[in-house]
Amino acid sequence: MDGQALWSPRVRELVPYVPGEQPRIANLVKLNTNENPYPPSPRVVAAIEQAARQGLQLYPDPESTALRETIAAHHGIDAAQVFPGNGSDEVLAHAFFAFFQQPRPLLMPDITYSFYRVYCQLYGIRAELLPVDDALQIDMAHYAGRPAGGVVIANPNAPTGSALPLAAIETLLQSQPGSVVLVDEAYVDFGADSAMPLVEKYPNLLVVHTLSKARSLAGLRVGFAAGQRHLIEALERVKNSFNSYPLGRPAQAGAAAAYEDSEYFEQTRQAVIAAREELTVQLWRLGFDVLPSKANFVFARHPRQDAAALASRLREHGVLVRHFKQPRIDQYLRISVGTPAQCEALVNALRLLLPTPSP
Ligand SMILES: *Cc1c(COP(=O)(O)O)cnc(C)c1O
Repeated sequence: MDGQALWSPRVRELVPYVPGEQPRIANLVKLNTNENPYPPSPRVVAAIEQAARQGLQLYPDPESTALRETIAAHHGIDAAQVFPGNGSDEVLAHAFFAFFQQPRPLLMPDITYSFYRVYCQLYGIRAELLPVDDALQIDMAHYAGRPAGGVVIANPNAPTGSALPLAAIETLLQSQPGSVVLVDEAYVDFGADSAMPLVEKYPNLLVVHTLSKARSLAGLRVGFAAGQRHLIEALERVKNSFNSYPLGRPAQAGAAAAYEDSEYFEQTRQAVIAAREELTVQLWRLGFDVLPSKANFVFARHPRQDAAALASRLREHGVLVRHFKQPRIDQYLRISVGTPAQCEALVNALRLLLPTPSP
C-alpha cells in the first residue's frame, strides 16, 4: 500500500525545515545551531524547579499573563502588546497564518532564515524572494512601494549575521503602510538595533524575539511577538484555534526569571560578543573571508576550500558547524560563537586541516 496516499495533498508537497544536528555523542564542540554556549542564569533553574514542584497537575495560565507583564515591563510596552509562544518558531508560524495569507506576495530576502519558506508552503502563502546584493546585504530599495501582502526581515539576518540600521527598518515600515512588516530579532541582543521602540508608532510592525539565543533557553522553547493590540489580537485568534496552552508552567516561570537576572544576561552577552570578535580575527588569519556579524555566529568562506568538505572534515575532528546546500551560500560555513575554549578548539582543528597561508 502507498502510505502517502493517506496524506493530505499539501503534506505530500511539503519540504520541511531541517534543523542542525543535535548529536548524541558527547565531547563534540557544537557550533552548528547558534545556541548560547553558557547555561541560563541559576535563577531560571530555581524558578523552573519551583514551578515543577507546585501545580504540574493543573493546566498553565493559557495567556501566560505574568510572563507577558515581565516582558512588557522589560521593553517598556503594554502587556497587551505581547504575544508569547512555544519558541519563536511557533510565534512566526502563527504570524504567517494570521497576516500573510494575502492575494499579494510576501516579500523576503532570497538569503534568510529558511523556515520562512516552509511556513509559506505550509499555509499556501506566495512568497517573492528579493535578492540580497553580492556582499549578501539586504537591499532596501527592492522593498519600497513594491506590491506586497507582507514583509519579513530577520535583523540581524540569518545566516549572514548582517544587521540593518533602525532607519532602514523605519523606511520600510513607512513604504509598506498597508502590510504587516515582521522583523525577526532572534539575534538582536548581540549588537544590532531593536525595532521595539517603534512598536508604539507603527500599526503595521510586528517584532519577534526568542529566548533561545541571548537568554540561553533553547531547551525551554519560548519566544514572543510584540506589536500593537490589533496585531496581537489576530495572533491570539490563531493560537486559540490551535493550542490554548503553548507554554507549560515551567516554561512560563523560567522565561520570566530570565528577564529578572539582567546582570547575568549582560555578562554572557558580552562574553559572546567578545568571543565573536576574537574568532573573526582568527578566521581572517587562516585566510577566511568573514562577513561582519552582529549575531552569535559568523558566516565565513575560505577562497580555496570547499565548504561542504571542510564541514565534514571538521566533524571528523569533533567540531560541528553548519553548511547550507543552497545556491549563493554553498561555499560558506555558519559557525556559532562558543566559549573562548570552544572557539580555540575550532581554530586548532582548522589549523590542522588548512595549509598555512603564505604571508
Ligand atoms: C533561532 C531562530 C529562530 C527560532 O527561535 P526559537 O525561539 O528557538 O524557535 C527564529 N528566527 C531566527 C532567525 C532564528 O535564527
